[in-house]
Amino acid sequence: MANIRYISTRGQTPPLGFSDAVMAGLARDGGLLVPEQILPPDDRFHEWPTMSYRELAYELVVRYADLGQVEIAKLVHDAYDSFRYSEVVSLVPAGPVHVLELFHGPTLAFKDIALQFLGPLFSLLLKKSGGKMNIVAATSGDTGSAAIAGVRGRERIQIFVMHPRGRVSPTQERQMTSVLDANVYNLAIEGSFDDCQRIMKELFADLPFKDRHALGAVNSVNWARVLIQMVYYFHAAFRHCAATGAKQVQFAVPTGNFGDILAGYYAAKMGAPIKRLILATNENDILARFFKTGEYSLGKVVPTLSPSMDIQVASNFERYLFTRVGGDAAKLRGLMDQFGREGRLRVVGGDPLFVAGVGNTAATRATIKKYHEQHDYLLDPHTAVGVHVAEQFLDPEAPTICLATAHPAKFGQAILEATGKDLAHHPILDALADLPTRCTTLPAEAAAVRDFIAAHAQ
Ligand SMILES: *Cc1c(COP(=O)(O)O)cnc(C)c1O
Repeated sequence: MANIRYISTRGQTPPLGFSDAVMAGLARDGGLLVPEQILPPDDRFHEWPTMSYRELAYELVVRYADLGQVEIAKLVHDAYDSFRYSEVVSLVPAGPVHVLELFHGPTLAFKDIALQFLGPLFSLLLKKSGGKMNIVAATSGDTGSAAIAGVRGRERIQIFVMHPRGRVSPTQERQMTSVLDANVYNLAIEGSFDDCQRIMKELFADLPFKDRHALGAVNSVNWARVLIQMVYYFHAAFRHCAATGAKQVQFAVPTGNFGDILAGYYAAKMGAPIKRLILATNENDILARFFKTGEYSLGKVVPTLSPSMDIQVASNFERYLFTRVGGDAAKLRGLMDQFGREGRLRVVGGDPLFVAGVGNTAATRATIKKYHEQHDYLLDPHTAVGVHVAEQFLDPEAPTICLATAHPAKFGQAILEATGKDLAHHPILDALADLPTRCTTLPAEAAAVRDFIAAHAQ
């Protein structure tokens, strides 16, 4: 059992143990929780290159979590039963790169990797504390179904997921509303995604309500999500080095909230053989601009073919910034205050571990078409953004692994536009059309959602 403590990036709350950090999500001072220390490689590290995915997951969790060894072993063993591959992920050659397919979970999205672990972890922690939890989430499409799949049918947990009525794709909507478990409530809000997020903020700001109903969140700032995403960086880097004889690899990561690539950063800091991280954004390029210029400045969100990356403020970026200012919480607070006031902040110096680039809509389409025609591989639009940027940074000494974050069938329309053919299908998605659904429509008012939750909460 590891006794690592989790501190707030803003430095104004006492440290927490792993279990409390996972239940809290965010720190009470508004900061993000980070481990006091990213662990250096230890004396068992030489065994890691030959370990299975689940064994590596165990080794990582045991070092960062205040849980018993038997509990952790069961968690990591069971978490990925719903995946179609025993090794959870698969590494496939495609032209000059390899694609690391992270989308073999129940909703065909890489978010399953984190959420299929987080659901059982919440259950375990609640069982130990005797507590219950009502998860509230707002989704513009993809996160909702992965969150629902992570907690459906679990005791002690209910989930309320708001989506903007009629504004998510029919497939995304059905992936959520066809889940009929009694602990799952889909709420179609008569408004926009911004309305859903605003309502969510209002509910969490109502502290008596939040405490009375033990409201919880599953968003990507939860430390457990970042931790469990480190596994595939180790797994893929070790295996690919062994297969190719290379000493190091580089990863290209299609990036939105900076959760995925942050896990890669921590894995590199822990000693995974990673030479570089290639950060790729779509036109919403605040992070690409930061890694090129040192300036983090707000732009306007534009819709693209890769909607899960259509963000401007990246919620996990604060964890990285914290290490860039040397763990100085006062300095970080100053920067975040400035960002809140002016919409921009600046950090001097660079980080040799990162390079960055942008794949716009035209490049995304062209990359999907090219990989289909020349390499017989169908990329989803998010993955295509990463592959496009990766092509600019190929390195003869470090093979390039591009993270594939969604199955192309989830974005069939984009595939059709790029290739002119209706190629992207998956039996799980095709079967959705015939399933019964359950969903409640509510007006875009916090009071209506509050009343609904109060009436249905555990
Ligand atoms: C969430 C998501 C991303 C972005 O991941 P972050 O951790 O937010 O950077 C990329 N692609 C897909 C398909 C996603 O769902």
